[in-house]
This record gives sequence, C-alpha cells and structure tokens, in this order.
Amino acid sequence: MKPPRTPHKQFDASGKRIPIRTCVVCRVRLPQSSVLRLGRDTAGLLQPDPARRLVGRGVYLCSSAVCHTPKALMRLSRADAPRLATLLEIHFKPS
Ligand SMILES: [Zn+2]
Repeated sequence: MKPPRTPHKQFDASGKRIPIRTCVVCRVRLPQSSVLRLGRDTAGLLQPDPARRLVGRGVYLCSSAVCHTPKALMRLSRADAPRLATLLEIHFKPS
C-alpha cells in the first residue's frame, strides 16, 4: 500500500502531533485549531460547535467564506443549509 498523498497526521517543530481535520465542503486539510467544528444538538440540528461540546461525530469547516454559502452547505445537509449559513455568517462576522 502506498502512503496517502497528504499525511493525515502532522507534527510541529517540537515533534508534537497536530490533529488534522478535513473541511467537509472543499476537502482542504487543516490543523484542528483552524477549522470550525459542527455538531448536532439534542434536537438533531447542526450547529457551530467551537467548544467541541456536542457529542457524536462532528464535521469540520474551514474559515473560507465560499464554504459557508447555503449552496456549499447543501453538500452537507440540505435541511440544515440555510439556517447553518446564517449561523456561520454570525460566527465569522468580524467584531
Ligand atoms: Zn472549506
């Protein structure tokens, strides 16, 4: 078996492992610290989960605005896309 083209694990200068997450929209791989986690709340709705408190398997989004449009989010969940786009707009709005 050939190794994957992009290693899923990366290491920083001190040899510490950096968790890598893949943006569900554009598939770009980024350190976990620079992606936003989305999880499902108790009602089953996808929510931004920056504190990573929601249980279950989360999905991750990069900070690129093109990944926050309703159309892009359709790839993730048709039902959640419009509401999620609004939440992401609020979340990433420069304060
Ligand atoms: Zn992305």
